[in-house]
Formats: sequence, C-alpha cells, structure tokens
Amino acid sequence: KAEFEGLRAIVTGGASGIGAAVVAALRDRGARVAALDLRESPDSTDGDVVSVSADVADDASVRRAVTDVVERFGGLDILVNNAGIGAQGTVEDNDDDEWRRVFEVNVFGMVRVSRAALPHLRRSSSATIVNVASIAATAGLPQRALYSATKGAVAALTRAMAADHLAEGVRVNAVNPGTADTPWVGRLLAVADDPTAERAALEARQPHGRLVSPEEIAHAVAYLASPLSGSTNGVCLAVDGGMQDLRLRK
Ligand code: NAD
Repeated sequence: KAEFEGLRAIVTGGASGIGAAVVAALRDRGARVAALDLRESPDSTDGDVVSVSADVADDASVRRAVTDVVERFGGLDILVNNAGIGAQGTVEDNDDDEWRRVFEVNVFGMVRVSRAALPHLRRSSSATIVNVASIAATAGLPQRALYSATKGAVAALTRAMAADHLAEGVRVNAVNPGTADTPWVGRLLAVADDPTAERAALEARQPHGRLVSPEEIAHAVAYLASPLSGSTNGVCLAVDGGMQDLRLRK
C-alpha cells in the first residue's frame, strides 16, 4: 500500500521548483495534492493533483482556497508551507515597503495558510505541517538581510507551532534547503553578467560541489510529513550538502 494512500495535502507555491517537486513526491506516495499558487500547476491535469489559485499574502483568497480543497478532498492531513520570494541586499538596501512585502509572503503567508488549515488538520489522525525555511535561517549569508530575517522567523515559528499543536496531534517541522536548482535560481542567473561563471561559483560554494536538487528537498519534506518521522517535532532539517553543519562554506 502506498505510504500516503488516502491522505490529502496542500502545497503552497506548488506550481514551480521545490513546491512542484513536493507535489510530485506526495502524489507518487499516494496522496491527493492541491498545489496552491498564484499560477496553475503543470501537474494539475493529473487526477490526483489539483491547482488552486490563491495569493498567500491575501487572507480572503487563502481561506477560500483551503475551504475549496477541504470540500473537494473531504479533509486535510498535510500542509506544506513552501511559497516564498527572494530579496537581496543589506539592511540599507531595502526600504520599509520591501521589508513588509517579503514578510507578507514568506512569514505572514505561512501564518495565514496554517490558521486556515489547522481546524481541518486537527480532525486528521496523521496531521503534519512542513515549512520550507532556508540555510539563510541559520547561516550568516552576505547580501541577504531581509530574506534571512524572514527565514529565521520561519524557523522560530516552526518550533513555537510544534509546541502549541503537539497535544492536538499536529506535528510541525521544517526543512532548511541550501541553494537549489529551481527556476528561482535560474532567474538569478539570467540577470548575471556571466551566467555560466555565476552558476559554477554557486556550485563551488556548496560543500558537495553542486546545487541541491528539488527532489532531494521533496524527499525530506515527504519524510517529515510521514508517520515514519512520528517522533520528530519542531526540527529544521538541513538539506544543504553540509553547508551549515560542516563549516565548509567557501
Ligand atoms: P520558485 O520561484 O521556483 O517557486 C516559488 C513558487 O511560489 C512559484 O510557483 C510562485 O508562483 C509561488 N508563489 C510566490 N509568491 C506566492 C504567493 N504570494 N502566493 C502563492 N504562491 C506564491 O522558488 P523555489 O526555489 O522553488 O522556492 C520555494 C521555497 O523554497 C521558497 O520559500 C524559498 O525561500 C525556499 N528556498 C529556496 C532555495 C533555492 O535555492 N531555490 C533555497 C532555500 C529555500
């Protein structure tokens, strides 16, 4: 029997990159999955994957989307809070509006979707939330002040939510990916002076000499969403080639 047979999941930001890989990983393990995104999911023609349009920065659209998924699937067991946007620069480079804009998506977005999902998750006998944070939550990366602050907040939120919802049977964990090979990084490379050299530099910065694959992150998310990790709660699992823990960062 497939591991997630009968389980129902929402993956925010499920139309691209890490989110799309998570959608595929949960579907391949037998779950029915809703890709909640600003955009249509490329997998939504598959019977077990539905696309649900919502902006995690907009509370009304989040509530509508979660209600819609719960009505279609008859409940909810797994929430993966993955939608996020990037920001570059030091504290001097981004103004207040930019700080608010990125926090709205990366932090308040997770709060909104979790708030809408928790009443349904509580009714599940295998309820889990997995948040996608980043190595930026723990490593001091240059030129990433705002982005790192949002991901540090996600890590703290993960631990606090794990404590709050443990007694209700809802486990909450996170993954901290290193630089991953997604359209996000593709967009960064597209504006580089020399994209090939920039990609080589990004790869050389990883301890294992390559970018993390979205599938590697998706397998870690699936593990945290599964009863196999039933005694794991409130952790941020690094999927970064050892970048944080081995102190090999160049
Ligand atoms: P991506 O840009 O390829 O995909 C992000 C998806 O989120 C897109 O489909 C986008 O439409 C959706 N999205 C953005 N804002 C949204 C909103 N307001 N409402 C609903 N959906 C929204 O990015 P990715 O690389 O797959 O990143 C996914 C997550 O992983 C992000 O939280 C990011 O911070 C985190 N992360 C990425 C990397 C990396 O190197 N790519 C590393 C660490 C952490």
